[in-house]
Amino acid sequence: MTATIAKIIWLACGLIWFFLRFQPRQHSRQTPVSYSGRGPREFVLLAVSLTGLGIMPFIYVAAHVPRFADYPLIPALSYLGIAVELACLWLFYRSHRDLGQNWSVSLDLRERHTLVTTGVYALVRHPMYAGFWLMALGQALLLPNWVAGPAGLVGFGVLFFGRVAREETMMIKAFGDEYRAYMRRTARVVPWIY
Ligand code: SAH
Repeated sequence: MTATIAKIIWLACGLIWFFLRFQPRQHSRQTPVSYSGRGPREFVLLAVSLTGLGIMPFIYVAAHVPRFADYPLIPALSYLGIAVELACLWLFYRSHRDLGQNWSVSLDLRERHTLVTTGVYALVRHPMYAGFWLMALGQALLLPNWVAGPAGLVGFGVLFFGRVAREETMMIKAFGDEYRAYMRRTARVVPWIY
C-alpha cells in the first residue's frame, strides 16, 4: 500500500458513489416538490459539506496540496479505510433503493411523499447520513494528510448537526404521530446507540 494507491482508491470510491446516486437522483426528480425547507442556511450547509468531502480531498489527490500536512501512511489504516468505504457504498445503494422517489439533496417533501420505515430505515432514521459518516471516516483513514483526511468529518459534521433536527421537525409536521412512533423505535445513525 502506498499513498498513491490510497488516493486512487479514494477517487474510485467517489466515482462509484456518483454513479450509484445518479439514477435515483434522476428518478426522484420526476416527482414534483410540494414543500421545501431550502434557503440560505441549507445552501451554506451543503457548500461546507461539499468542500470537506469533495473539494479539499480532490485538491489533495490531484495537486498534493497542502503538502506540509502529510504524515507517513499506515497500511493497516488504509485497509480499514477500504472496508469502511465498501460499507459506505453498500449503505448508499440500499438507502437509495429503500427511500425511492422520496429522496432529495435538501429538505424537501415531494408530492405523494410516503414515510419509509422498512429496509435499512427500520434500523436507523438516517441511513444515508450514516453512509456519509462512513464516507468521511473512510476519507480520514485513506488519505495520509492532517488537513485533507479529516476535512470530510468536519464538513459533513457541520451539515449533519445543522440539519438533522430540522429534518425531523419537518417530518413530524408532515407525518405527525406516525413519525413520532418511528422516532421512539429507531436511533438516528447508529442502531440502538444514537
Ligand atoms: N435523512 C435521511 C434521508 C436523506 S434525503 C437519511 O439519512 O437516510 C433527505 C430527504 O429525505 C428529506 O428531505 C426528507 O423529505 C426525506 N426523508 C427523510 N427520512 C425519510 C423517511 N423515513 N421516509 C421518507 N422520506 C424521508
